Amino acid sequence: MELKGKNAIVTGAARGIGRGIALKLAEAGANVAMVDLGSPKDPALTYNLAAHGELASAVDQVKSHGVKAAAILADVTRAADCERMAAETVKALGSLDILVNNAGIIAAGPVAEFSEEAWDRVMAVNAKGPFLCSKAAIPHLLRNKEGAIVNIASIAGKTSRGGLSAYCGSKFAVMALTQALAEELGPANIRVNAVCPGLLRTAMWTDVLNQYLSKAWGGGNPESLFDNTVGSMCYLRREQTPADIGEAVVYLARADNVTGTSLVVAGGAEIH
Ligand code: NAD
Repeated sequence: MELKGKNAIVTGAARGIGRGIALKLAEAGANVAMVDLGSPKDPALTYNLAAHGELASAVDQVKSHGVKAAAILADVTRAADCERMAAETVKALGSLDILVNNAGIIAAGPVAEFSEEAWDRVMAVNAKGPFLCSKAAIPHLLRNKEGAIVNIASIAGKTSRGGLSAYCGSKFAVMALTQALAEELGPANIRVNAVCPGLLRTAMWTDVLNQYLSKAWGGGNPESLFDNTVGSMCYLRREQTPADIGEAVVYLARADNVTGTSLVVAGGAEIH
């Protein structure tokens, strides 16, 4: 599918991987509806999500590539927000060709100590969010002769790890949704794939995993934990970037004969 002039939604686009995906889609000539919460506070989490100003600056950055961009405030766990997100996108950009389900959160802790509230919220954002956004987008995607959904899963959707049961469980669910939707939407020429990012220096690592894993793995400096993990897990001995993930999304959005699969972008940290 040629991306120039096509219209995409990227959820969780204010910062991190979502911003990188939006920028790569814009470089390829696509217009982007950029969706985020607009409020950094989520009571179930130990870290801040993106602030409203970050979404505005991400939209400006995307527009500098000469494409249209719109900011949409929505919580992907709310069906009404997702319906409005799809409708506002079509109003602002004209149609909908690509949905990128990227919004996600993390909480860490062993099952015996993990709160029910954190479990529910991780599942709601990471697993129910892509379901609700896809459900809202599908009627619009079906109006075109082609389309693509790209779900941002994780290497955590391939191998589950201690201390990350909710996060990994939610990402396994994303993989299942991807495979089921690929079969459902294939006859309508809508391709559905996942990207499994590896290790990226975003808030998930700097504000959560560095602190949690340095304790769980028996001490050590939280500041160097990310680098040490990259050094030990990635065959290529380097971290991945939002631009790397954006390139994978652009590939999957374009790839006319690829559906139901997952593309691991992890420098060798996961090879299945
Ligand atoms: P991030 O925290 O920087 O970005 C997540 C974005 O999602 C934020 O802008 C946040 O405000 C938004 N968001 C959170 N809850 C939302 C909601 N309910 N509705 C709308 N927006 C919401 O994290 P990131 O690392 O850029 O993560 C992006 C995606 O990549 C996530 O799905 C994550 O699980 C996945 N991922 C990240 C890594 C990594 O190493 N950072 C690895 C594998 C997969």
